[in-house]
Amino acid sequence: MLEFQATKDFLNNKTILITGAGDGIGKAAALSFSQFGATVILLGKTVKKLENVYDLIVAQGSPQPAIIPLDLKGATEQHYIDMAQTIEEQFGHLDGVLHNASLLGALGPFEHMDAQSLEDVLKINVSAPAVMTKALLPVLRKAPNASIIFTSSGVGRKGRAYWGPYAISKFATEGMMQVLADECDGTSVRVNSINPGATRTEMRAKAYPAEDPLTLKTAEEIIPTYLYLVADDSVKENGQTFSAQ
Ligand code: NDP
Repeated sequence: MLEFQATKDFLNNKTILITGAGDGIGKAAALSFSQFGATVILLGKTVKKLENVYDLIVAQGSPQPAIIPLDLKGATEQHYIDMAQTIEEQFGHLDGVLHNASLLGALGPFEHMDAQSLEDVLKINVSAPAVMTKALLPVLRKAPNASIIFTSSGVGRKGRAYWGPYAISKFATEGMMQVLADECDGTSVRVNSINPGATRTEMRAKAYPAEDPLTLKTAEEIIPTYLYLVADDSVKENGQTFSAQ
């Protein structure tokens, strides 16, 4: 676990897009980034959840956030192109993207894998962040330093029985991170991945229904690694895999 000491307002004047910002780790990241001065763009599927995070950010006296309601399952390249254009018009540049939204899909033996479920998981966890990043690269390059963070998992670094589509998607995520990091090497854009580790969220409860959630770290507790990767302190990190615990 990284011991990063954030200083007050160190994210002032930074604009950071977070996917899956309505719940779990994405919500905690949005509240924390904005607390340190960032303007956060909250992207997610359930508008009510995004509005709730918006209200919490305003209530804590942080910069006014923006909301992008978008279901990554149905989103097309044009959605991302339009989104990038709006971000450029509104903010001029983008300092960071946290690709956090993911679908767990069904766990079970490979032989029972549902083809549609595999497609959905790969669309939301891999294709959507890939095509979104492609569209956002020009506006990310307009920032003095920009950080792209992909979210991995323990099963994206070592395969495990019965983790099917989700594990396949997280290996692909690590691969995507490495390809893009290599292309961005020596530029103002850096690309890294984080494995949050076991964290007390709805997704974790779905994967491990018998587990006592109180034995797990909360999303708030694992945020220091995320803060480090959006801070200028990490400008030299590129192509690295981080673990938040
Ligand atoms: P949650 O299920 O709590 O949150 C996932 C978020 O992703 C929700 O805000 C959800 O929105 C959003 N999302 C899901 N599908 C879509 C979609 N089609 N379009 C847009 N947004 C979508 O998960 P966590 O906070 O636990 O997970 C965050 C990340 O961390 C994920 O990438 C996960 O794989 C990874 N991770 C988590 C671990 C853990 O122990 N919690 C361990 C290892 C990795 P909505 O609520 O509206 O559906």
